[in-house]
Amino acid sequence: MDTVETDAVGTGTTWTVGDVAALMDTWYPPATAESWDRVGLVVGDPDRPVGRILLAVDPVAATVGQAVETGADMLVTHHPLYLRGTSFLPESDPKGALVARLIRSGTALLNAHTNADIAHAGVAEALADLVGLTGTRPLEVTGEDADGHPLGFGRIGCVAPQDLATFADHVASVLPAGPHGLLVGGDEDALVRTVAVSGGAGDHFLGLARAEGADVFLTADLRHHPASEHLEGGAPALLCASHWASEWPWLPVLARRLRAAALAGGATVEVEVSTMVTEPWTSHRPTTGGHR
Ligand SMILES: [Zn+2]
Repeated sequence: MDTVETDAVGTGTTWTVGDVAALMDTWYPPATAESWDRVGLVVGDPDRPVGRILLAVDPVAATVGQAVETGADMLVTHHPLYLRGTSFLPESDPKGALVARLIRSGTALLNAHTNADIAHAGVAEALADLVGLTGTRPLEVTGEDADGHPLGFGRIGCVAPQDLATFADHVASVLPAGPHGLLVGGDEDALVRTVAVSGGAGDHFLGLARAEGADVFLTADLRHHPASEHLEGGAPALLCASHWASEWPWLPVLARRLRAAALAGGATVEVEVSTMVTEPWTSHRPTTGGHR
């Protein structure tokens, strides 16, 4: 069906797995993924129709179960199922069991990983928008997309001047709830104006965030030594979220994009975002023991 939307794919009222994959490839081209990464259609028949799509960060038992039990025809995740390949798919193996469950239920699995991290309307940009950055640009520019948007890892932008404590409270209030929470490193009275963000494990951008003049860097998975040694050198202060919470904000952005494209193309597709917390952690305990 003809529309004014260039994003529309498919022919009329039914999307196939291949249509969704083609759309994702347009928005998040696989060629822009890192060379070590694995992105694209993992499991599924490109010709099968898709009436319902579930979006999640992780392809794990909980989200595959949710997809199958809610009748999703397709699960789209950020993380790959197999980053390093495999020679075996026994169902005694957790990932082998997922592949079997997906195939038996006719549920396709597709992922967009580093190609989604760097893109316009991608993972880093979604995190920057969620925490309210303005004048945002990539922290590390890697290129430009077909529409002229800069591509790259992380984002850096501005917020209204405020102290670190206030900004940390704001970030904690907008990131999705989970047991990890938000760790704060730095002087909480320090002034925050320039903010760098990078979803997922971002400790390799610590130096770049400093070089670009960030007052605070929001990321995840920060380890003791890189974080400690960085803070010994001064700004930016650090906000350490969970890997899952820092990447999940992309999912509602992707859902809106898919719904708009379906509407523009005249296709009837339900798009749901999984709110299952797939952090490895199940609860958080501040430690309160003595020092004996
Ligand atoms: Zn990740």
